[in-house]
Amino acid sequence: MAGLEGKTAIVTGASSGIGAATASALAREGARVAGGARRVDQLQTEIRLELDVTDQTSCERFVDAVTTADASGGLDILVNNAGLGLGRDPFWESTEQDEETVLETDVHGLIRMTRLCLPHIRDGGHIVNLGSIAGRQAYENAAVYVASKFAVRGFTYALREDLLGRPIRLTTVDPGLVESNFSRVRFRGDEEKAKGPYEGVDPLRPEDIAECILFALTRPLHVNIDELVVKALAQSSPVRIARN
Ligand code: NAP
Repeated sequence: MAGLEGKTAIVTGASSGIGAATASALAREGARVAGGARRVDQLQTEIRLELDVTDQTSCERFVDAVTTADASGGLDILVNNAGLGLGRDPFWESTEQDEETVLETDVHGLIRMTRLCLPHIRDGGHIVNLGSIAGRQAYENAAVYVASKFAVRGFTYALREDLLGRPIRLTTVDPGLVESNFSRVRFRGDEEKAKGPYEGVDPLRPEDIAECILFALTRPLHVNIDELVVKALAQSSPVRIARN
């Protein structure tokens, strides 16, 4: 198994959930992890920097700071994890502002970070994009989030074509229901509603996804895990969940 000693990794959205668990798993395996998020006080990574993926200047500053801090100015791993959904309402309840926030964060933020990091990624490097099962099967009252994750998958497939022949690996990890801060953000801080998706079911934990990401990262260089779709045992689709 290829280890992560001596590797420099960026994890976006490392302040909670899957990003925090991934940052911690990468550090455990020896990587030097730079975590970025808007809530810098929540970051526990070796390098902790403010990052708003919707803001070009913030992204440029972040990538500059991380790559300058690396002795050879390079980067080995980019985990594009920052993301969110807003609301569970029919599309006609959607607003311009929510659409912009979700698409800017989940799609443009991921594309922007990829573009800024790519020139720094050393041979043997790896990009991991966090998609979702929402990017594989639509479900009701989530049109913009679903669109954002279909876009992540489309971008990942297209980037794989562009990277073909270069020694940079690319993986999309598409989780189902994971218990994190995601639901709290989606329901805008309404704790009761936020608990709903996890009621009567044993969901995935952020650590489960972090271990899958680690698996992809630690395969031999000639192996590219293109896609990982990971669901709780009790979930077969975005809406079919066997609840107690
Ligand atoms: P989470 O606990 O809410 O974490 C989301 C992370 O994204 C936070 O660290 C947040 O940090 C960061 N973030 C949000 N907007 C950002 C911005 N503009 N700039 C930088 N960072 C930003 O949710 P999670 O479940 O771990 O979600 C992580 C990823 O997994 C997302 O892409 C999500 O779509 C995907 N996913 C989640 C689930 C699930 O069921 N939870 C399922 C499938 C896919 P700050 O707020 O501090 O900036």
